[in-house]
Amino acid sequence: MLVGHFAISLLGKRIEPKVSVGTLMLAAMLPDVLSCLFLIGGLEEIRLNSGSTFKLEAVEIAYSHSLLTGAVWGGLLASSYFWRRSYKRGAWLVLAAVLSHWVLDVVSHTPDMPLAPGIQARLGLGLWNSIPATLVIEGGLWILSIAAYVSVTRARSRASLALFWLPIAFLTLAWYGNIAGPPPSDPSSIRFTSLIFFLLTVAWAYWLDRLRLCKERTV
Ligand SMILES: [Zn+2]
Repeated sequence: MLVGHFAISLLGKRIEPKVSVGTLMLAAMLPDVLSCLFLIGGLEEIRLNSGSTFKLEAVEIAYSHSLLTGAVWGGLLASSYFWRRSYKRGAWLVLAAVLSHWVLDVVSHTPDMPLAPGIQARLGLGLWNSIPATLVIEGGLWILSIAAYVSVTRARSRASLALFWLPIAFLTLAWYGNIAGPPPSDPSSIRFTSLIFFLLTVAWAYWLDRLRLCKERTV
C-alpha cells in the first residue's frame, strides 16, 4: 500500500493526539524506508513484473518487510520513543503503526510478504491487482483518515491550510500513478527516488504538527 500507510499515521493522531503525526508517519512507513536502504546496500532485491498491476515483485525483502523483523524494528522505534518521551501509550501506538505496515502490505501485495528471514512461506491477498478494489478500499481508508485527522486538528492560517491540502492532493496523485500508471522506466533508480519521497513525506508530517494545531499537546 501507499496512502494506506499514510492513513495509519493520520488515524493514529485521531487515536492519540499527543503523539507527533511525523513520528506516526515514520513508524507506518518504516519498513519501506528500511527497504530502500537495504536495496541500496544490496541486502534486498526487487524486480520489475510488467504482468502485474503491482509492477514490482519482491525477490528478497525479508529484512525490512517480514512480520518478525517488523516487530523488531517496531520495538526499536517504540523503545526510542519511550526513552525520549516516557509516554507508554504513545510507544505502543508507534509499535502498532510499524506492525500495521505488514498487515496492509499483505492485503495489497501479491504473495511476496515474508513471515521471517529464512522462512519460505509468502503471503499476499493481491488487492493491488484490482484498480477498482484498490480505489475503494485503500482510497476509502485514506479519505477516512484525512477526515479523522482534520476533526482533531485545525489550520493555523490560510497558508497552513494550503500546505496541508496541496501535499494531500500530490500524495493522492502519486498513489494513483503508482497503481494505474505505467511501470517505472528505470527500476534501479526506484530505491533512491522512493527513499527521497518517503523521507520528504515524513518531514512534511513532522511539519504538520506546527501547521495544524491540535486540541492536545504533542509529545
Ligand atoms: Zn511496504
